[in-house]
Amino acid sequence: MMDLRDLYQDVIIDHNKNPRNFGRPETCDHEANGNNPLCGDKVTVFVSMAGDVIEDVRFEARGCAISVASASMMTELVKGRKLADARAIFKDFRDVVTRKEDVGADDLERLDKLAVLTGVREFPMRVKCATLPWHTMSAALDDSEEEVTTE
Ligand code: ZN
Repeated sequence: MMDLRDLYQDVIIDHNKNPRNFGRPETCDHEANGNNPLCGDKVTVFVSMAGDVIEDVRFEARGCAISVASASMMTELVKGRKLADARAIFKDFRDVVTRKEDVGADDLERLDKLAVLTGVREFPMRVKCATLPWHTMSAALDDSEEEVTTE
């Protein structure tokens, strides 16, 4: 069994302390709010598109280290990618952190940078923290007016 402390690896601590792409942009095409009431995480994701490519993605967040680090890593990963690729990364990430079967080396390799976040699998509450930014970005891209909630 993994210790909770093992979850907070250096890369997660770094992204939490120095979040990338943080702050509200002057303009954006899409925006959505997410809320994880169980933990108290709140995140807003801003997206600007250029055709089918995510030209810019930024966020504001107040919450735990996992939610902030996940949002920061998400922005780094999807910026400059095609929308379909970004959605595929999210699907992959969500599948791995929510499934019961063991995670293999191939899964971790495919997830690349996100592999450090897969430790949340052992802590169901933290899965919501880690996936909240992704759900919120999806809602922004879908132009959903409703706040995303994990409950
Ligand atoms: Zn949280």
